[in-house]
Amino acid sequence: MDKNKYIELLEILCCPECKGDLEFVENYLYNENTNDELLKQIKGKEISGYKCNNCSLLFPIIEEIPVFLVDKAIKLNK
Ligand SMILES: [Zn+2]
Repeated sequence: MDKNKYIELLEILCCPECKGDLEFVENYLYNENTNDELLKQIKGKEISGYKCNNCSLLFPIIEEIPVFLVDKAIKLNK
């Protein structure tokens, strides 16, 4: 899926945690230690995803699939 498709999705998506607006982000380097099998796949990689500025969660796009699960979301430092 190309970048514009992801950006178009912003119109219909909202944060599953707080229902807030999301922002498309690119080139986020995920480098945290995790035991999560899904998140291990993106460790050390630059990823794209959807960021909620309200609750500072980043919902990663993994293998071209946006993962809108709160327990897979990356907690960002404010
Ligand atoms: Zn939120």
